[in-house]
Amino acid sequence: MPELPEVESLTQAVKPVLEGSRLAKATFLRPDLRAPIPIEDFCELLVGQVIESVSRRSKYLLIKSRKGYGIFHLGMTGRILVQSSATPSVPHTHAVFTVAGASGEITYLHFVDPRRFGRIDCASVDDLAKHPLFVDLGPEPLDCRDLGEHLYKLSRGRKTPVKVFIMDAHTVVGVGNIYASESLFRAQIHPRRKAGSVSRANYEKLAATIKDTLSDAIAAGGTTFRDFQTPDGNPGYFAVSLNVYDRADEPCKKCGSAIRLIRQSGRATYFCAFCQK
Ligand SMILES: [Zn+2]
Repeated sequence: MPELPEVESLTQAVKPVLEGSRLAKATFLRPDLRAPIPIEDFCELLVGQVIESVSRRSKYLLIKSRKGYGIFHLGMTGRILVQSSATPSVPHTHAVFTVAGASGEITYLHFVDPRRFGRIDCASVDDLAKHPLFVDLGPEPLDCRDLGEHLYKLSRGRKTPVKVFIMDAHTVVGVGNIYASESLFRAQIHPRRKAGSVSRANYEKLAATIKDTLSDAIAAGGTTFRDFQTPDGNPGYFAVSLNVYDRADEPCKKCGSAIRLIRQSGRATYFCAFCQK
């Protein structure tokens, strides 16, 4: 599933194509993905408009015109391909965007999503912050200067396991399952520890390891899933060095103990019972 680092990589990849260009046309090949696409509003806010900026919030790609935002989520299997033709090159292409560059060159962005858990939405400039997808989100981990303090304060009195706590988008966005396991290993915190029992010093450490883990993955271009492709069509499978994730029973890289696998809130958690307290 595309996580924050993959969406950040995608954002950086489509930025040069979109920023300063005009969204000349949007063709939707079906009316819905996970939810209905607000086609009329999307076209009203974005088609014919110059794209002023391309950014990411949580796992959403945002493209902004003078009037509003186009909002894209890749769901489980979504990707956006930069193509030289409007004709879909792969099955499950659900939308095609015609982009006219400042010097007249035409590029096509194809939104492809076999399982259709993705989303295309929009919001006027004034309504973005109030949009139901964004209204309750926690801070961006990489932009939040006092993330350790934020986690510490928010966690007081909380009995939720710390891994579940940091994966909750109300706490902080973008800490997906792989990154949660890896960050907790790096900070040497046991994933089952009650969030409210983790010390301020350990939250400072955890904030740093969350940032490092995500930054490393962004630097590598995303991490590790089969269905994602970079916009130029290459598989988005980058060998980020994983310490614990998907390494059940293999030796811990630090102490040699077998990495353990448990389930928390239905998700696989990998950790070293010796290194993480
Ligand atoms: Zn260990």
